[in-house]
Amino acid sequence: MQETKLKIAVQKSGRLSEDSTGLLKRCGVKFNNGLGKLKSEAENFPVEIYFLRDDDIPEYVADGVADVGIVGENVLAETDKKVDSIEKLGYGKCRLSLAVPKNFAYQSVRDFGGKRVATTYPKILSEFFNKNKVNADIHTISGSVEIAPSIGLADAVCDLVSSGSTLFTNGLREVETVMESEAVLIARKNLPADLQTILEKLFFRIKSVKAAKQNKYILLNAPDEKLTEILRLLPGIKSPTVMPLATRGWSSVHSVIDESDFWEIVEQLKIAGAEGVLVLSIDQMIQ
Ligand code: ATP
Ligand code: MG
Repeated sequence: MQETKLKIAVQKSGRLSEDSTGLLKRCGVKFNNGLGKLKSEAENFPVEIYFLRDDDIPEYVADGVADVGIVGENVLAETDKKVDSIEKLGYGKCRLSLAVPKNFAYQSVRDFGGKRVATTYPKILSEFFNKNKVNADIHTISGSVEIAPSIGLADAVCDLVSSGSTLFTNGLREVETVMESEAVLIARKNLPADLQTILEKLFFRIKSVKAAKQNKYILLNAPDEKLTEILRLLPGIKSPTVMPLATRGWSSVHSVIDESDFWEIVEQLKIAGAEGVLVLSIDQMIQ
């Protein structure tokens, strides 16, 4: 009998490709994603990876051609396909924003009333305008949205932004955020039990990789008389590890800290008397 495999759809080539295949690899899934490949079987885990256009992923997952997929929340919100959104993945972060030409005297969202707005996200945008009681004229185009105002196709645009440099080079100014987005793991509804088991195993690994990314391993030397104060700054998973150094009166302290508080904690540790601070990345963190 053929082994049951979970089919995972990821973007073939684009902004999410590298991070998505990288995530699977950090989960210990070994596969070959050579150029031009449409699908690849993992050597050591019961999954098969499909490389697709990102817009097609929700449909493939909803139809059961793939069991799970990784897409931007923006793509998911734009489709009417019914899939389960399982977990935000922490990469592919961007926002869908409204932008106007620099000379547009923008004051509030009401200024879009009666204006032509070009976008590839008509569903999300019309929901946003309805919510704000704005009656605008949405022009759906399939790409290069940012040039629409300069060629006279639209008065404003609604497009994905991360740094804002594309808008800036096209003489546009970001004025409203319509939605924030990042990559998410989605799954088809009513996944059979054998596939659900594989998904849970993969999901456990994804969570460990995500937790590891948010945390850093920190090692430092502390004079014993400052230990209490230093330990107060380092909560650790259970509690920090403290070991005596060969030099009397000094200890080595090991702990795990959240990346978001990282710089603040390091500064306070130095003030408290910590020396030789080393900070390491963590590959996986099993919780
Ligand atoms: P495909 O060929 O697969 O259809 P695409 O051109 O539609 O690719 P990309 O530009 O590769 O898509 O973007 C894929 C996803 O990456 C977007 O849907 C979005 O979720 C995310 N993303 C992150 N930052 C940005 C950004 N600055 N601009 C556009 N998308 C971004
Ligand atoms: Mg696309």
